[in-house]
Amino acid sequence: MDYQSILNTIEQKLDKRNCKGKVAAYIPELAKVPADKLGMHLYCINSGHYSFGDSNEKFSIQSISKVFTLALAIRFVGDKLWDRVDVEPSGDPFNSLTQLEYENGIPRNPFINAGALVVADVLVTHLENPKKELLDFVRQLCEDDTIDYDERIAKSEAASGYRNVALMNYMKSFENINNDVDEVLDFYYHQCSLAMSCKELAKAFMVFANAGKQLSTGKRILGKQKVKRMNALMQTCGFYDEAGEFSFKVGLPGKSGVGGGIVAVHPQQYSVAVWSPMLNEKGNSELGMDALEELTTLTGLSIF
Ligand code: GLU
Repeated sequence: MDYQSILNTIEQKLDKRNCKGKVAAYIPELAKVPADKLGMHLYCINSGHYSFGDSNEKFSIQSISKVFTLALAIRFVGDKLWDRVDVEPSGDPFNSLTQLEYENGIPRNPFINAGALVVADVLVTHLENPKKELLDFVRQLCEDDTIDYDERIAKSEAASGYRNVALMNYMKSFENINNDVDEVLDFYYHQCSLAMSCKELAKAFMVFANAGKQLSTGKRILGKQKVKRMNALMQTCGFYDEAGEFSFKVGLPGKSGVGGGIVAVHPQQYSVAVWSPMLNEKGNSELGMDALEELTTLTGLSIF
């Protein structure tokens, strides 16, 4: 498979597209990111890696971090996590409060904000230094010790995160948050502020394409069953209330973030990250989805 020429074709096709999406503005620092950034990076399980555009530029990974924190949390509490977070698609926006009321403070899944906040609460309970230990985990997946939080983004979100404060307090009223609300929110804003490039994200997600093992060392990071479940959750819940549309168009497990990044994996084939900050009305990168739709069409490699 000539991945580089397929990526070149995708770049040319995207160039001609008229994107109507908008850069996320509800976190003030995110609104400063130039709208025309575009990059893509693909790691193939057995034949190197390929890219175009701004694939080496770091951006705010936002909700993509929910995959890293979930992986860490299920290492600590295993199946007990599912008593506090469900595994069903929500069909609601990422920051919705509505379903929590009739589901007794149990979030629909770990990839909407409510679910990720419960996962963050679990990590605050079990880790001695949650921010450092999350960073160590992501650095290990990327084999890169320079990965870091972007304090400006974390601060900016903390100053404007009214919805997340509401979600936390609401879930605490149902006794589904065990720690201090501010401490968990501080951890959550930091995880969302992780700054990574498409190249780094695609490399980190190889563990989900490679059945839980690090590609370069063969070291097991996550059990096979955990990876199977995480890929299933990415497939069904990774795109807010657009998970069905992403499956329909792209056909891969993946996760998006409001920074405009999307990471997707094809088990036993590749992992791929794309970044374009212009979001559609559901909060997913418009050109990122187009790029991945082209990728699975041109390669003939989706999971369906
Ligand atoms: N930090 C963002 C928030 O909580 C994450 C949103 C996202 O990427 O879905 O609003």
